[in-house]
Amino acid sequence: MNVHDSEKMSGALKSEGYIETDDPKGADIIIFNTCSIREKAEQKFFSKLGRLKSLKKRKPSLKIAVAGCIAQQEREKIFQRTPYIDCVIGPQNLHLLAGLTRIQGHAVACDENPSLAEADFDIDRKDRIKAWVTIMYGCDNYCSYCIVPYTRGREKSRPSEKIISEIEGLAREGFKEITLLGQNVNSYRSDIDFTGLLQRINNISGIERIRFVTSHPKDISVDLIFAMRNLHKVCQHIHLPLQSGSSRILHLMNRKYSYEDYLRKIEILRNVMPDISITSDIIAGFPQETDKDHSLTIRGLKEIAFDGIFAFNYSPRVGTRAAELSGHVEDDVKSERLYEILDVQNAITDMKNKALVDTIQEVLLEPSGIKGNSKLTGRTRSNKIVNMPVYVQPGSSDLVRVRIVKAHRHSLDGIIQK
Ligand code: SAM
Ligand code: SF4
Repeated sequence: MNVHDSEKMSGALKSEGYIETDDPKGADIIIFNTCSIREKAEQKFFSKLGRLKSLKKRKPSLKIAVAGCIAQQEREKIFQRTPYIDCVIGPQNLHLLAGLTRIQGHAVACDENPSLAEADFDIDRKDRIKAWVTIMYGCDNYCSYCIVPYTRGREKSRPSEKIISEIEGLAREGFKEITLLGQNVNSYRSDIDFTGLLQRINNISGIERIRFVTSHPKDISVDLIFAMRNLHKVCQHIHLPLQSGSSRILHLMNRKYSYEDYLRKIEILRNVMPDISITSDIIAGFPQETDKDHSLTIRGLKEIAFDGIFAFNYSPRVGTRAAELSGHVEDDVKSERLYEILDVQNAITDMKNKALVDTIQEVLLEPSGIKGNSKLTGRTRSNKIVNMPVYVQPGSSDLVRVRIVKAHRHSLDGIIQK
């Protein structure tokens, strides 16, 4: 989502005549697009920002803008700590960026934006084959650990006709894969619901693959599962964050499902689509998590056998309900639990990837590969990375059939089939 927000900011400035540079010393504007989901991301940002203080002193005309969730959280408070910043712009106000940079002195745009879902952006997409497409903004779920509903605001779905016409435009430009973006795409609702939206997009000629992130387990419906199977462009991969294998902790997290509810959804997904790839997020050391709760997460990982996970230590976020809970877990205990989670999952990921050796997979080639480098790379429908030597010219198609010959933890090796 942040990568796509950066494409929107870049598009806004390019339409004002700016060009991109990798050299901070030569820049007229430097924008930090920040994340505040965990403390580490915040610390990284403030240390990078500190390094620009002397640059700004030498070149007072340089504008420094802070965008994203830290901007939204800190608002004008950020000027007390770092007065050399010029603009602070929250994720709901990206359309104001170009105007803000023209203001002399400190400028702030962090208000709730009720018309965000109707906004149009000039998007400077970096990829020519795969595109992110926002279908909704914000989140209403208020998971107790999460800062997103406070920084990105209330949930708002974009009108379906805007989404469809954006994707039709992308198809005309030659894009092959789109990923629909939202914090909880299954709760998309305009004149149609999420399943209806997938059906409409599936009919757009030129688009070969449809993906979406993220799905909330409580909102995955049987309708959606059958649509994933029946709509041939929808990839059979789902990112479905579990967070914990303990129903007691899930309740404290305000996730609105139990471990058993989650497991039932996994069973339906796999019954309907035996080859589906399922990935997830896990949080280690949520407040009050005991060794027993942690062992339930380990049991869950073994029972479900995800294709891959992102796992993180719990990070208290000021303003969230979980930060106020008693019984915070010591950092070294969190880290021990995280290591065990990653160890268990690594073995499962290795096993899952090995099972793909000798299968034939459809791979969408990355543009760098199509240009005829010595090595090609692409992704399977299940979103696994495949590297291929150029034994066979792939021809003009971006979609190739590949025999998998070797499995690694984070990628597969394959050979293109004639
Ligand atoms: N909306 C998506 C969902 O609910 O699945 C995910 C959004 S969040 C940006 C991505 C992941 O960050 C979450 O699934 C969660 O595992 C993790 N996360 C969020 N807040 C966190 C916190 N305070 N500490 C550690 N991990 C956190
Ligand atoms: Fe955060 Fe929960 Fe919303 Fe995901 S669903 S963005 S974890 S509050």
